[in-house]
Amino acid sequence: MIPLRIKVEANADVPFVVRLRSFEAEGLQPTSRQMHPFEAALKRVSTEGAEYVGEGGSIRVLGIDPSRIDGDVLLVNPRRGTADRLIRSTSPHNTFLVTERCDQVCLMCSQPPKKHHVDLFPYFQAAALLAPEGTTIGISGGEPTLFKAQLFAFLESVMDARPDLSFHVLTNGQHFSEDDWGAMNRIDRRRVVWGIPLYSSEAAVHDQIVGKSGAYAQLMDNLALLCRFGALIELRTVLMRPNAPGLPRLARFVATALPFIQTWALMQMENIGFGRMNWKALFYDSSRGFDFVGQSIDFVRSRGINAQLYNFPLCSVPEAYRHLAPPTISDWKRAYRERCEGCSMKPACGGFFEWHPRDHGYSNLGVLQ
Ligand code: SF4
Repeated sequence: MIPLRIKVEANADVPFVVRLRSFEAEGLQPTSRQMHPFEAALKRVSTEGAEYVGEGGSIRVLGIDPSRIDGDVLLVNPRRGTADRLIRSTSPHNTFLVTERCDQVCLMCSQPPKKHHVDLFPYFQAAALLAPEGTTIGISGGEPTLFKAQLFAFLESVMDARPDLSFHVLTNGQHFSEDDWGAMNRIDRRRVVWGIPLYSSEAAVHDQIVGKSGAYAQLMDNLALLCRFGALIELRTVLMRPNAPGLPRLARFVATALPFIQTWALMQMENIGFGRMNWKALFYDSSRGFDFVGQSIDFVRSRGINAQLYNFPLCSVPEAYRHLAPPTISDWKRAYRERCEGCSMKPACGGFFEWHPRDHGYSNLGVLQ
């Protein structure tokens, strides 16, 4: 698995953000280029680690080859001797976890909520400004809009400074209000996609899945509000036993009541957090029961709505739908199995979550090509 946290030694008292550069690997001398104040350049590599030096001091990185972290943006915690790789320069999967608090308790949540919150927005802002050109940064939680003022201020400031960056914000959609007109008008709405879950067209089913009474009604109000804001919406539906039979009804609802969305994403479950605890009751084996999924996709597509399959191994999907299943599992939590060796679809396939159980998953994976 790709490590997101690495060991470091730094002579500082407080956390800081730094971008690592290996100028020699790029055919440059550190002196031949004005270094950014938040950058540190690789000086030497020894058995004691890779030493980087910048305006803010020096930092030693341990246990990872410098070629794997060139251009990465780290949040260094000197007291703990660790650094979080906030931006991995060669990865398309960079996400800032802005809080672990949430007001919902979804049955399959992969990141169960915690009460504790530390405001890291100043560090995220510094890191985003150092991101490679054209990066799309994910914002996730917990529920990021519990800290809506900070979130909007972050988006506005970074997007002003970096017109090349885009954002994908995962939110439960519960906390928008008419008061957000000003903030929405101050950001470039074409560069922010809001990923919002809806699990059923029936309020009771949705509310039961998210563990919050009234959540469906609030979500309906706020989807309408986001439509008026001109926000880009990716509607997300995790496929589970309680909502799979209702999927064709949800498809009709999406096509008639929510035609303004950009994408409807049908998603497979992740076996971690509450998803692991409730796996037996929730996991829907779409490799055997694809009919609900196929009918639903066909319906919304016939109405001009883009539908996608997220987190589905390609061999679990009938051939006619595979072009709708991009490799969405993040690189750092993606795994392939023995059966994947020599599979011609591997370059286009996202495989499995690293923690997907070997004996409690898909029972009808297709013949390999
Ligand atoms: S790479 Fe693995 S999971 Fe993907 S289609 Fe091939 S066998 Fe299936």
